[in-house]
Amino acid sequence: MKVLILGGTGEARSLAAALVERTDTEVVSSLAGRVRNPKLPVGDVRVGGFGGPDGLADWLTAERVDAVVDATHPFARRISASAAEAAKRAGTPLVMLRRPGWSARPGDDWHWVDDLPEAARRLGEFGDRVFLTTGRQGLAEFADCPGWFLVRCVDAPEPPTPAEMRLLLDRGPYTVDGERALMTEHRIDVLVTKDSGGALTVAKLDAARDLGLPVVIVRRPPTPDVEQVSTVEDAVAWLDRSG
Ligand code: NAP
Repeated sequence: MKVLILGGTGEARSLAAALVERTDTEVVSSLAGRVRNPKLPVGDVRVGGFGGPDGLADWLTAERVDAVVDATHPFARRISASAAEAAKRAGTPLVMLRRPGWSARPGDDWHWVDDLPEAARRLGEFGDRVFLTTGRQGLAEFADCPGWFLVRCVDAPEPPTPAEMRLLLDRGPYTVDGERALMTEHRIDVLVTKDSGGALTVAKLDAARDLGLPVVIVRRPPTPDVEQVSTVEDAVAWLDRSG
C-alpha cells in the first residue's frame, strides 16, 4: 500500500515513523517547504506545493497512491481543502489526522477570537506588552498595533511587522518553567496564540495561568467534510481498514 502523508506537524512525523518499518507499506511525506530548516520525517520526503487540487489529484493518480493522511497543522486551511477535493477527484481514500484543540482549565483567562485581525483589534483591552506566538505568517495583521511585542517564530518574518518588536527564533518544545521565565523577564501583559493543540507548545498556556495573564486564543478554521481521527494510532488503524 502506498500512503501519502501531508505533513508539517509532529503527528505527521510520528505517523511516518510508525509506518516506515512496515514491509507492506510505502510512505511518502510531503512538506510545503515554508521552513528553512525543517524537522524531517523518516522515510521518503517530497517538498513543495502540488499546484492546487488539480495538481494534487494528478499526483495521486500518477504516483498510484492508495491512501492519503492529511496530518497538516489545524490552521493550514488551503492544503486541507485541496486534499479533500483532490482525493475525491482521484478516488483516493483520505483521512484527516487532527490533534484535539486545547481546553481552558480553572484559573485560565482565555478570550476566544475568530481570526488574527480580531486578535489584533482586541489586544488593547489587555495591556501594552504582548507575547505573540501565532507564527510568522499573519504578523502583518499586528503591524499597526500600538504596544511592544515579543514575537516567537521558527523563521524570521518578512515586513510589515509590529514597530516595537523583539524577535525570538525558536521552535519548541517548551517547558512551563522556561515559558514563565520568558514572560516574566519581558513583563508580558497578554499572550496571543492559535488553538494549535498538542503537547509541544502547551507550556505557554500553563505559564500564563500560573502568572494570571490573559490569553487571546484564535479559534480553528472549519475543516472540510472528511473522516477525521485524532491520534497517530487511529490513523494507522484507519489505514489498516482502508488498505
Ligand atoms: P496552507 O495555507 O494550507 O497551504 C498553502 C499552500 O502550501 C497549499 O495550497 C499547498 O500548495 C502548499 N502546502 C501546504 N502544506 C503542504 C504540504 N504538507 N505538502 C505540500 N504542499 C503543501 O498552509 P500553511 O498554513 O502555509 O502551512 C504550510 C505548512 O506548514 C503545512 O504543511 C502545515 O502543516 C505546516 N504548519 C502550519 C502552521 C500554521 O499555523 N499554519 C503551523 C505549523 C506548521 P499547493 O496548493 O500548490 O499544493
